Amino acid sequence: MSTTPTRDSWKVEASYIAKNTHNPIRSIVENIVIEPNPNKLMIALSIGYQSAREAVADYSSNEFVQVDPKDVILCSGCSCALDLCITALARPGQNILIPRPGFSIYRTLAEGLGITVKSYNLRPEYGWEINLDDLEAQIDENTAAIIINNPSNPCGSVFSRDHLTDILDIAARYYVPIIADEIYEHMVFPGRTFYSLASLSNDVPILSCSGLTKRFLVPGWRMGWIIIHDKQNILDEGIRQGLVCLSQRIIGSNTIVQGALPAILRNTPQKFYDDVIDTLYEHSRLAYSHISKVPGLNPIMPDGAMYMMVYIDLTCFTEFKSDLEFVQCMLMEESVFCLPGQCFDYPSYIRLVITVPKEMLVEACLRIQDFCERHHCKTSQTINELDRIGIKY
Ligand SMILES: *Cc1c(COP(=O)(O)O)cnc(C)c1O
Repeated sequence: MSTTPTRDSWKVEASYIAKNTHNPIRSIVENIVIEPNPNKLMIALSIGYQSAREAVADYSSNEFVQVDPKDVILCSGCSCALDLCITALARPGQNILIPRPGFSIYRTLAEGLGITVKSYNLRPEYGWEINLDDLEAQIDENTAAIIINNPSNPCGSVFSRDHLTDILDIAARYYVPIIADEIYEHMVFPGRTFYSLASLSNDVPILSCSGLTKRFLVPGWRMGWIIIHDKQNILDEGIRQGLVCLSQRIIGSNTIVQGALPAILRNTPQKFYDDVIDTLYEHSRLAYSHISKVPGLNPIMPDGAMYMMVYIDLTCFTEFKSDLEFVQCMLMEESVFCLPGQCFDYPSYIRLVITVPKEMLVEACLRIQDFCERHHCKTSQTINELDRIGIKY
């Protein structure tokens, strides 16, 4: 499908709130051009850390992307990073594009600001790749940004390099900047590779959002960041400044963790990262092989992150009208709680978190199996009979 592009150049305007937010202390401190006297040791009685931003810049640089500390904005977690990006880029009445299924916070943040969300579909049968025709069809003259979440919550999918390039082509053709939610960066299973959007983009501005929460398993530490990737300086007119101003609506992200950030990002041994991945990979294979055998359920094996989506064939469970009813009844009878697909705008699925200890995960799978066999429309007798003659139902 090909619609006529709605714009003919890059014009990314900051929202009113971004333009109208000022913090005089910050603007003085950050715009001071005077160099201190080199003969006297500097005593900072103004405000905090530059070294934390340098650490994030180092951590996020590689042979394809060079990040400057001035392109790093520290936030209270990745959700705060997303909040600032959406708030800076979109005005009430404009829209942003979000994935379906997708993490619900994009909608929560945008709709609260009077920004419309439009969903583009993912395709479970193609490893949850984006339906590119659908993505393109959703873009209109009011589209302020596209949110891309890779690796994905709730799908655990990891996009290929080619797929990311195709996404960038669309964004470039329509002059729409991308907010890349890459909180699961590097959390991919053996044999898969994570490519950041910024490493593949030449002209499309990318606001890349990440943080400590997932890879370092510390959700309560509330440390995240935005990295502004903007090779063509398209965001210099307002957005960059707007993000800085918005970040100053709170006085700053957790300073204790800021202080620790250089050590966390530079000294964490590779073994820590590898062990987390090994565990997640083992758990997802375990859950996948268990759930595959359960009548009426169809799991989709993830390639990364910490989740697995499972399709529920509701025609096999006619007493439940929705994934929510299925989940509620399972909670009541088995004390196993999964999120219904509804939470991700994707009915008829449930999402499993695979981070619980192995024994607990196995126990959960067994209880899910009991539950499904008990509620499956075919009586358990029929199931036993089919099992006996080796037919998969
Ligand atoms: C958990 C999560 C976040 C938020 O992370 P915090 O750093 O805890 O705010 C953002 N995006 C996705 C996709 C997530 O799963």
